[in-house]
Amino acid sequence: MTLRLARLHHPVTALGPGRRVGIWLQGCDIGCPGCASRDTWVAEARHDTEVGDVLDWIEARDPALIDGITITGGEPSEQPDALAELVTGLSRLGAGRDWDILCYTGVELAAFRERCPAAYPLIDALITGPFRAAEPTDLLWRGSANQQLVPCTQLGRQRYDHLVGALRQRPQVQVQVDDEQVWLIGIPGRGDLARIHRDLRRQGIRLEEVSWRP
Ligand code: SF4
Repeated sequence: MTLRLARLHHPVTALGPGRRVGIWLQGCDIGCPGCASRDTWVAEARHDTEVGDVLDWIEARDPALIDGITITGGEPSEQPDALAELVTGLSRLGAGRDWDILCYTGVELAAFRERCPAAYPLIDALITGPFRAAEPTDLLWRGSANQQLVPCTQLGRQRYDHLVGALRQRPQVQVQVDDEQVWLIGIPGRGDLARIHRDLRRQGIRLEEVSWRP
């Protein structure tokens, strides 16, 4: 089955506990004002990727260096069938390895369950709700105060119950640099993007386009 994929990365340390595989899905119709990932909104044919290829990519990583999988976007619930196939494959790959699956969604829990009935039972924890720029927060792994961390399975409750009200202790952003792009992984706090922009400029890196402005 085809999935609309923005990117894959490992290790991700800013979106959930431990060292994780990050899966960014492409396509979001929610359009939260202030979204830092506007580059994931529009899905085109070039984003089509076989779910099996994503699973093969993950299988090629060292499993000892994977504590969990984070699925984000884009909006995962806009691809319910592909998401179901993806989490089914991830559950198979992670069997006996104690990986948890954490999924971000811009819709509330009830809407996610309704949209993704096949995927939901295989997801250990969700972070739900749209980003609201007017409700800044220091809650761990969340971009605004309305967003809820919802442990869903037994593993999810073991791993996330005690973190539901936890605050971030340090910036939640990883910076990756390649030949053409500076890529921020994580949830920028208030002022983080401007600060990173300034620091990069001081080091002679000038950003031509950024994903957090139209
Ligand atoms: S914050 Fe998430 S749900 Fe909101 S527009 Fe951006 S990608 Fe979509």
